Amino acid sequence: MTIYSWHSAIYRQIAQRAQVERLPHAMLLKGPPGIGKRAFVSALAKGLLCEKPVSPITACGSCVACHWFDSGNHADFRLLQPEAAEISDDDEPVDKKKKRDISVAQVRSLSDFVNISSHRSGAKVVLIQPAEAMNVNAANALLKSLEEPPPATFFVLVSDRPHLLPPTIRSRCQQIALPPPSAQEAAAWLKTSGISQPELALAQAGGSPLLAVELDNPEYWAARQQFLDGLSNRQFDALTLAERTVAQPIPQIINWLQRWSYDLARLSFGQSLRYNPDRKDALIAAIKRMKPLEILHFHRELVRFQRIVNHPLNPRLLLEDLLLRYGQLIQH
Ligand SMILES: [Zn+2]
Repeated sequence: MTIYSWHSAIYRQIAQRAQVERLPHAMLLKGPPGIGKRAFVSALAKGLLCEKPVSPITACGSCVACHWFDSGNHADFRLLQPEAAEISDDDEPVDKKKKRDISVAQVRSLSDFVNISSHRSGAKVVLIQPAEAMNVNAANALLKSLEEPPPATFFVLVSDRPHLLPPTIRSRCQQIALPPPSAQEAAAWLKTSGISQPELALAQAGGSPLLAVELDNPEYWAARQQFLDGLSNRQFDALTLAERTVAQPIPQIINWLQRWSYDLARLSFGQSLRYNPDRKDALIAAIKRMKPLEILHFHRELVRFQRIVNHPLNPRLLLEDLLLRYGQLIQH
């Protein structure tokens, strides 16, 4: 996995720094989702482990360490990520929330790894992604290692939402912000990726090119079209729209609704829209029937909502409730 062009300057800066001093033992790479952070930290980890780097932290790609890293077998590398994909071996029902966490047991399992010397007498690297998936106990367990860093061990943390990490963890890491590409860089890159409607996909993805690529699926666009047609219908009917849409994943629908209301709020306060450039006329028609402050209030409620609801018990009721509330924005 190579790093994306919009991150090469910052990678060079870290490499230059590594030439004159030892890199910090703990680094937190942060930035919005879908911009290529994983490619970045993967290159960094490989570069730290490479035995014949072409320059500091730039892996050669051909030494034995690089081969092990590529095949996922480097003995001096550990990846901590949520256990979601792993199979529970006890008889208790699988707790979904637990499986989305990085557990304290996972962090404790590092203790042997960090306390014995490396297999290749080089560096050891622990990659934690996404770092905010660590629950409180896991973060506390990690803190000990960050406070008394074991020799020649690098902790690399990756996060879309670093504000969710305990301040004690953040303060012990060197924080490195990975920026999204500029609109021009993202558009140029998307054109080479061959997806249909690159501009609209990029807008829908909030400027994150990798998320835009994930949207390149006719079913996604058809479902979005149906939902937005329902929202902008002059005879808006919450219950019918809920009925038609309920088969879609709820987080996806809330996302559409949130972006729609965001664009409504922007337009009603005289700003340019962001997510739905293909729906400008419908959005303008809609705000003529709504009060700006009420749109803003609805949007804020949705954002709060989006943070707490991933798997509602009754998706239909939830969707009906949200769409009925949207309907209350429309003045008759
Ligand atoms: Zn190498």
